[in-house]
Amino acid sequence: GRTYTWAYAAYPARVVFGHGTVGTVLDEVERLGRSRALLLAGPRVSEHADTVAAVLGSSAVARFDGVAEHTPVQVTEQALTVLREHDADCVVAVGGGSTTGLAKALAARTGLDQVILPTTYAGSEMTPVLGETENGVKTTRSSADVVPEAVVYDVDLTLDLPVHISVASGVNAMAHAVEALYAPQVSPLVQASALTALSRIAGALPRLVSDPGGTAARADMLTGAWLAGICLASADMALQHKLCHTLGGSFGLPHAETHAAVLPHVMAYNAPAVPDVMAQIAEALSAATPLIAWPAPAGDRHSSVIDDAPGFMFDLISAVGGPLSLRELGLAEHDVPKAAELATARPYPNPRTVTTPGLERLLHAAWRGTRP
Ligand code: NAD
Repeated sequence: GRTYTWAYAAYPARVVFGHGTVGTVLDEVERLGRSRALLLAGPRVSEHADTVAAVLGSSAVARFDGVAEHTPVQVTEQALTVLREHDADCVVAVGGGSTTGLAKALAARTGLDQVILPTTYAGSEMTPVLGETENGVKTTRSSADVVPEAVVYDVDLTLDLPVHISVASGVNAMAHAVEALYAPQVSPLVQASALTALSRIAGALPRLVSDPGGTAARADMLTGAWLAGICLASADMALQHKLCHTLGGSFGLPHAETHAAVLPHVMAYNAPAVPDVMAQIAEALSAATPLIAWPAPAGDRHSSVIDDAPGFMFDLISAVGGPLSLRELGLAEHDVPKAAELATARPYPNPRTVTTPGLERLLHAAWRGTRP
C-alpha cells in the first residue's frame, strides 16, 4: 500500500532556455562527449532543421526527415538503419512530440544520447515515457533510459508554429498540469510547477492568438510547456490521459486536439471529488481573465468563474478558437460506447471512480461540445 505523503522522481536532463539557443546545440553535443549526430527533423520544420544542421556542421553525419505520428516501429527501423550506416554516436531532434518520440525510440534501442529542440508544447522531452505503434496498436513504456540528456528550448523555433496547433498543444500541456494536481503522489515541487504552467499558458494563449509571432507570449507558452512536461514526468496521469490515449490509438483522433476537446469534460467529471484542486486551477486560469471576452452573462462573471474551473477552461479554449468537440475531430457518435468500454477495460487511479456509463455520458458531452 501507499505509505508516503508525496513522492517525486527527478530525471538528470540538462535544460537550456532562451532566444537563439539553437546556436548552442554543438556545445551541447560536445558537452556529452559526442561528435557524430544523426539529425531528426519533424515534418514542416525543415528550415529549423537546416539551421540546426548549419550549427552542427561536420558533427551532423546524417539526417532523417521521415518522422511519422505515433512513432511507428517501421519508421524507427528505417532511422536505425541510417544511424548505423553513418555510425552516429548521438541523436539531435528538432520538432514536436512525434519527433521526440522517434529520438526516444532510437535511444531505447541503442543507448545513444539525445539532444532535443522542441517546437511544440507536448512536453515529451522531459519524460521517461515512450509510446510506439506496431500493427495499429499503440503501447507505452516508461524507463529512465529514454529521458533525453539535453533539451534546448529556443523560443525562436516556436514563433511560426501555426496558431491552431499552438492552441491545441498548449491545452495538451495544461492537461498534464491539471492531472498532476490531483495525482496521488503530487509533491510541492510538481504542484508549484503545475500552477505556474497553468497561469503562464492561460495568460499567453489569448496574446498568442492576437499576435502569433509575439516573443513574450511564446516564451510564456514554452516555459509553461517545460513545467507541464515535468508534471507529466513526475506524477501519474489519470482519466484525461487514458481517455485521449484510447481515442488517439483506437480511433485515430489527433493527439493534442483530442486533449483540448476532452479536458473541460474530464475536469467536470472529477470536480466533485477534488473541489480544492479545482479552485486552485480556476485561480491559475484567471491569468486569462482580463484578456478574453467572456460569453454572456456579462458583468459579474469573474466572481463565479472561481467556482467553475471546468466551465472556465471551456470558455478559454473557446475564446482562443480551440477544438471543443470530438465531433469536429471526426469521432462517430456510434463509437462513443466502444470508446467508453475500451477506456474502462483496465482500472487506473482517478480521483473519482470511473464507470462505463459515467464515461459514456462524459464522452457524449465532449462529442457534442457543450459547455460542462
Ligand atoms: P507532432 O509532433 O505530431 O506535431 C504536431 C504538428 O505540428 C505536426 O503536423 C508538425 O509537423 C507540426 N509542427 C511542429 N512544429 C512546427 C513548427 N515550428 N512549424 C510548423 N509546424 C510545426 O505533435 P505533438 O502534439 O507535438 O506531439 C504528439 C505526439 O507526441 C503524440 O504521439 C503523443 O503521444 C506524443 N507525446 C508523448 C509524450 C511522452 O511523454 N512520451 C508526451 C506528449 C506527447
